Amino acid sequence: MKKIKVAIVGGGPAGLTAALTLSKRGISPIVFEEHSSIGQPIQCGEGVSIGAFEDLSLSPKKCDFVVRDFKDAKIHFPSNTQIYGDIHSFMIKRDEFDSYLAEKAIENGSEIRLSSKIIELKRKKEHIELVVSGNSKEHYECEYVILAEGSRANLARSMGFDTPISIRAFEYKIKGEWGDDLKFYFDAKRSPYGYCWIFPRDNETNVGIVTTAQNRKERLDNFLKECNIQRDILKKVGGIIPMKGPVNKLHGDRILLVGDTAGMVNPLFYGGIRLGMTSGRIAGEFLSTVLLYGEKAQISDLGDYQKNLQKYKFMSTLNLKCHEFFYSCSNAVLAKIGKVFNKQYINRIEGIRILKTLAKISTKPSLLFHPVGLYYLYRGFKIARDWGF
Ligand SMILES: Cc1cc2nc3c(=O)[nH]c(=O)nc-3n(C[C@H](O)[C@H](O)[C@H](O)COP(=O)(O)OP(=O)(O)OC[C@H]3O[C@@H](n4cnc5c(N)ncnc54)[C@H](O)[C@@H]3O)c2cc1C
Repeated sequence: MKKIKVAIVGGGPAGLTAALTLSKRGISPIVFEEHSSIGQPIQCGEGVSIGAFEDLSLSPKKCDFVVRDFKDAKIHFPSNTQIYGDIHSFMIKRDEFDSYLAEKAIENGSEIRLSSKIIELKRKKEHIELVVSGNSKEHYECEYVILAEGSRANLARSMGFDTPISIRAFEYKIKGEWGDDLKFYFDAKRSPYGYCWIFPRDNETNVGIVTTAQNRKERLDNFLKECNIQRDILKKVGGIIPMKGPVNKLHGDRILLVGDTAGMVNPLFYGGIRLGMTSGRIAGEFLSTVLLYGEKAQISDLGDYQKNLQKYKFMSTLNLKCHEFFYSCSNAVLAKIGKVFNKQYINRIEGIRILKTLAKISTKPSLLFHPVGLYYLYRGFKIARDWGF
C-alpha cells in the first residue's frame, strides 16, 4: 500500500489553499479531485471579498482572473430601501481562480490527482486508509487527511463528523452586464431564509436565488421580470451551501475539516470562498507545524486546529444569532430596518453615529422590540466587512 503524509480530498478553494500552505512549508500533500479538471463545473456567483487576496498576499490588480472591482455592496430591502455594505469585493472567473490556486500549489510541491474520487476512508490504529475509485481501487495509507469535499460532506459523515445544515441555490449566467453594483435583494416572501443576487461580470451577469423555498427557478424568473432583466441565459447552475456556520467538531483522529465541509460560510450572506480558503490556510499551517515539530499527544487529536480557528471573529456564535434574527424578520420589519439605515453604510456606523441611529430606531416603535437582534445584525455586517460576505 502506498504511503502519504497528507492527503487532501477535494480540489476547491479550501483544499487547494491547504495544499499551497503545506507545500510552502515543505510538506508535499496529494490532492484528490473527483472531476477531470480543477474549477469545473462552476457552481458559484463568483463574488469574493478582498480578504481572499490578502490571505494569499496577492494584488487583485495583477490577477487575470479578476474581472471587476466593487468597493461596496448594495443591499436591497422591501419598500425600496437600500443599505450599503462596506465590503470590498471582486468578481472573478471562478474556474480560472481555482486553477490558479492549483498551479501555485503544484509549483510549490503539491501533487494533484484528477478524476480520483475517494470512495472510502478507514480508520486504522496508526493511519487513515483511503480508497480511490476506479477499476484498480487504489489504497493509500495516510498519516493525515484534510477533508475539503464541499458541502455534501459524505466522507466526513461516514467518519462520524456532524455535517453542515445546507440551503439550496439556483443561478443563471446571463448575457450582458446588468448594472454597476454587486446587489443583494432581501425579501422574506420571495426568498425565505435567503436572498436574490445580481453580480455583473464581464459581458455576463450572475443572477441567482438562495432560499429554503422549493420552487427556486420560478421565484428567480419572477425576480428577473420585476427587475426587467432579459433571460438571455448562457448557463444554469445549482448547488447547496452551508447556512449555519461551522459544525461542532472540526478535527479528530488524524482528520481535519475545512471549507464547506466544515461549514465555513458566512451565515448572513452564505459566501464561502474566503472562509474556505482561510480555514484551508489555518489547517495547512497547523498540520505542517504538527508534522515538523509535533508532540506525540497532538498527533491524532489535532484539537489545537479548532482552537486556532476560534480566535477569529468569523467563528463567533454571534454570527449564527445574527442569521437567526435576520432571517426571522417579516418584510414589515425588514422594511423598517431598511428605512433606518437607508443609503448608509451599516458597517461604518461608529461613535456619535450610533447615538443618531438609536434615535432613528426609537421613531419606529416596532423595531424597539428587537434591540438585541439589531445589535446582532450590526455586528454581523461588521464581520462581513472584515471577513467577506
Ligand atoms: C450557486 C452558488 C453560488 C455561490 N456563490 C458564491 C459567491 O459568489 N461567493 C462565495 O464566496 N461563495 C459562493 N458560493 C459558495 C462557494 O462556492 C463555496 O463556499 C466554496 O466553493 C467552498 O469551497 P470548498 O473548497 O470548501 O468546496 P468546493 O468548492 O465545493 O470544492 C470541493 C471539491 O471536492 C471535490 N470532491 C467532493 N467529494 C470528493 C471525493 N469523494 N473525492 C474527490 N473529490 C471530491 C469536488 O469535486 C469539488 O471540486 C456559492 C455556492 C453556490 C452553490
